[in-house]
Amino acid sequence: MLVSDLSAELIGTEAKANDLYDRAAGAYLGLAVGDALGATVEFMTPREIRELYGEHRNLIGGGWLGLRKGRVTDDTEMSLALGSSILAVGRVDARAIAESFSDWMRAKPVDIGHTVRRGIGLYRRSGTLEVPENEYDAGNGACMRSLPIALFTLGSPPQAVAEASRIQAHLTHHNRLADAGTFTVIQMVQAALLGGGKAHLRMQAEALVAAEEPYRFDRRRMENPGGYLVETLRAVFQALFATEGFETALVDVVNRGGDADTTGAILGMIAGALYGTGAIPRRWLNALDKTTARACTRQAVALLKASPHCAGAASVARRSAAVG
Ligand SMILES: [Mg+2]
Repeated sequence: MLVSDLSAELIGTEAKANDLYDRAAGAYLGLAVGDALGATVEFMTPREIRELYGEHRNLIGGGWLGLRKGRVTDDTEMSLALGSSILAVGRVDARAIAESFSDWMRAKPVDIGHTVRRGIGLYRRSGTLEVPENEYDAGNGACMRSLPIALFTLGSPPQAVAEASRIQAHLTHHNRLADAGTFTVIQMVQAALLGGGKAHLRMQAEALVAAEEPYRFDRRRMENPGGYLVETLRAVFQALFATEGFETALVDVVNRGGDADTTGAILGMIAGALYGTGAIPRRWLNALDKTTARACTRQAVALLKASPHCAGAASVARRSAAVG
């Protein structure tokens, strides 16, 4: 089923609207708890994680960044910076996003990827809003922050969604393979928001593999995924499709180690949209930094409300009220 079919099917009933907002909040909170959970074991191997924790399954902070318990990293912070810029100007605007990222970098974030630092530095020096295409830019740094695009463009034609995705990605990462992976993650989140189940998400992942063979995830188990988006998404897809719930999926992926905050963040946004806020363990939500949790929930609602899907539904409701 296409996202547009799902959307036509679901417009208009209040229960389903509430469900949609719950899934959106689930996606944003899922991103944050996945980031915080994974950060503890980032750069560790599965064996090192087993020796230290048995199975890592709680938000305890620490890790190589020495994080406070419940604290998130750049994955969540850059998503919030992107979302703020979209809400401030009412559209996906490269310059507004660049300014927002630059402000974030000025505030001395706890972690920042080197491709991100380079892109923001280039913008500051020359006003560049699109870094040159680069075969080495297939890192996961643009995908990890893409959730606000999925929320704000819900109900837009696929070409418009892809264009919005490229605008935000190319500020720091410009690579065809990474663009394809990021667009697929956005489409999976959007389908899950609209009630698409795991079989539907699997078809989307398989369509990515059909177009871009390196993303094949049905072979060797992906352990120690690095910052290369292909490795990140192989681990994310394997964990998503091998499990039946939010917690088991997240525990699976972060215990693979490697770039675990980002596998946690990306899986968290997809699984949060799929399973809703009720599926996120209370102990994780309780441990999550309160200011972050509030900002994520608020942005999820505001971005979704501004999306064509919800703005469209609101105008249909207004028109039918006027007719009635
Ligand atoms: Mg991070």
